[in-house]
Amino acid sequence: MVTDLEATLRPEVTAFLHRDHALIIGDQRPAASDGGLLDVHDPATGALIARVAAGTAADVDAAVAAARAALPVWNDLSPAARADLLWRLGEEIERRAVELGQLDTLDNGKPTSESAALDVPLCASIFKYYAGWATKIDGETITPSGGAAFHVYTRREPVGVVGAIIPWNFPLLMVGYKLGPALAAGNTVVLKPAEQTPLSALRLVELALEIGFPPGVINVVTGDGEGAGAPLSRHPDVDKITFTGENATGRKILEASGANMKRLSLELGGKSPSLVFDDADLDAAIAGTFGAVYFNQGQCCIAGARVFVHRSLYEPFVDGLAAKVRAIRLGNGLDPATTMGPVVSGEQQSRVNGMITSGVEQGATAVVGGGTVRLPELADGFFVEPTLFTDVHRDMTIMQREIFGPVGMVGTFDTEEEAIALANDTQFGLASGIWTRDVKRTHRVAAKINAGVVWANTYGMFDVAIPYGGFKASGYGKELGREALDPYLQTKTVWIDLG
Ligand code: NAD
Repeated sequence: MVTDLEATLRPEVTAFLHRDHALIIGDQRPAASDGGLLDVHDPATGALIARVAAGTAADVDAAVAAARAALPVWNDLSPAARADLLWRLGEEIERRAVELGQLDTLDNGKPTSESAALDVPLCASIFKYYAGWATKIDGETITPSGGAAFHVYTRREPVGVVGAIIPWNFPLLMVGYKLGPALAAGNTVVLKPAEQTPLSALRLVELALEIGFPPGVINVVTGDGEGAGAPLSRHPDVDKITFTGENATGRKILEASGANMKRLSLELGGKSPSLVFDDADLDAAIAGTFGAVYFNQGQCCIAGARVFVHRSLYEPFVDGLAAKVRAIRLGNGLDPATTMGPVVSGEQQSRVNGMITSGVEQGATAVVGGGTVRLPELADGFFVEPTLFTDVHRDMTIMQREIFGPVGMVGTFDTEEEAIALANDTQFGLASGIWTRDVKRTHRVAAKINAGVVWANTYGMFDVAIPYGGFKASGYGKELGREALDPYLQTKTVWIDLG
């Protein structure tokens, strides 16, 4: 029986779900070499919605060979022709915002107000932005300092075959983060989507092939980390790995990719702070911090979940934030009334619930939540009760480890120095938020926070032109903006004797 929510699915989505989900290698759609399949579940209902190929090391070999063969094809196209394809892919993604958004909602659980309305347009804008860069990748002419009679110039060349390994929290958007700059720079790609959320990546690459990307320029090997990700990261014919995911996985990839000196970009986890100073606009700080903690079910690497509030504002701040958390409407992401969907999987649900239990056991006070969701209509989905803790201490597990779920922690501070020390008291350094009306303090604190992004009086702003990436254990290599092109390029110097 088709439920009311299933009836809202675009026909293209239903048709896609009913198709085979083979790998994409060159111009072929093969099954996994050993016939293996991975189940894909709707996290809102637990229902099996698709099976995709579980790629193997042999499939990775074939995909890398296809990407290698396509390198000269892709680079024989003029930069303008590559730009045109990237731009048209951006347009196609825009045109299919509802379809791609619904696929991500079914696969990941996030409400369509986030997938279709935010993730998809940002993904489209990435392809359009890097379309612009495809025609502007230039070397330079340099005069030797010794003044000898040489003509010296540099060429900016693609690094070659790129392996892109991505997580499940922004399934479609992460494809854009990786493919946009890699393709604009003239590389070819083997993409390994997360095993929990492979659908929108497959659909996006199908669309790319339909609009004319040469076969082999983008290949997709679905599968799990050990079966498909690990062989890709250690493959001798892959020139660069770009990875977004957990720190522990990043460490494994660092070791595996070192064997042939692959270039590597790592976008890893975070434990980002939000600092609310005594002169902050309280309502704005509450609203902004709420988004920082709970957006995307809290499954954001940038989640600003460690909140520190000046003691003078602590009570009204906690009351205001708690009211917003209580007002969250959990539900199926396809329902427009839903403001928070399920987390991505049963495994993630257990992991987040375990962290909530540890917070309670270690003495934190759950002002909201702290238990498990018991709504009967949501019993089969992977829902987590949105939780807000106070009475937190730095030694608690919830204050040090990334939770990746809808859980916030609020502590206090008295002085600016103390706030900065608390903010930096973590192995991570991805992002941070400051709430203050004092412009001098804004710049002072921004300079002292040891993180790759500082948002002041806002949180979680992204723009395709603005670089983004972490410090410390949060990784290296920027995404977005002009800077994101650099890791996909290598500089060749040419000396010509004019004497
Ligand atoms: P994960 O590390 O478990 O998985 C990410 C990808 O790596 C998946 O495709 C997985 O199959 C693959 N993988 C797993 N083991 C592998 C191995 N041994 N070799 C190669 N590939 C392997 O991460 P996740 O749970 O999917 O995603 C959540 C994590 O991602 C969080 O830690 C989050 O902070 C991080 N993240 C970071 C950013 C950022 O920009 N810094 C953005 C989004 C998510």
